[in-house]
Amino acid sequence: ESVEQMIDRLCAKIPDHPEPGVLFRDLTPLFADGDGFKRTVDALTDAFRGQYDCVAGVEARGFMIAAAVAYASGVGIVPVRKKGKLPRETISQQYNLEYGTETLEIHTDDVPRGSRVLVLDDVLATGGTLGASASLLTRAGFNVAGFGVIMELTALRGRAQLGGHRVRALLRV
Ligand code: IMP
Repeated sequence: ESVEQMIDRLCAKIPDHPEPGVLFRDLTPLFADGDGFKRTVDALTDAFRGQYDCVAGVEARGFMIAAAVAYASGVGIVPVRKKGKLPRETISQQYNLEYGTETLEIHTDDVPRGSRVLVLDDVLATGGTLGASASLLTRAGFNVAGFGVIMELTALRGRAQLGGHRVRALLRV
């Protein structure tokens, strides 16, 4: 079974969630599967091997992927958090979500300026979340090495929001 086939098998599809007409892709069965999670983390780690000094994970599902990729590659992790969670100096960015608006924040001084950062999340939909994360990280002095996601919803054209950086999506639907 290929990684693509495995992700598709372990992705639950929920019609009309969180609103009518949306087919929500839930990857918690993949996270809950030991072999599935390991193969997913290994594939994302291999895709960018040697190209990053740290990883960033987007709250909350991105944290799980980023923590595992960071551990597997021996680098540190920077949390991209929802507004109001980080206790020291932050920079923040508001953006439009597929369903509403959101504000993301990062600490300004956890990692040396100029560090190459791999940005990770579970799903690339409209690209608002990863695009805002990339602007935040760039404003904080990071160099974006690329974006890694488990699944890309290609019809929403999220890649166009990602400024030409390299994107690796393990499954494109
Ligand atoms: P975007 O900002 O529109 O690209 O949406 C990406 C964010 O919303 C990610 O953090 C995803 O976790 C979440 N998201 C959007 N659509 C889905 C979906 O169908 N399944 C799971 N997460 C989704």
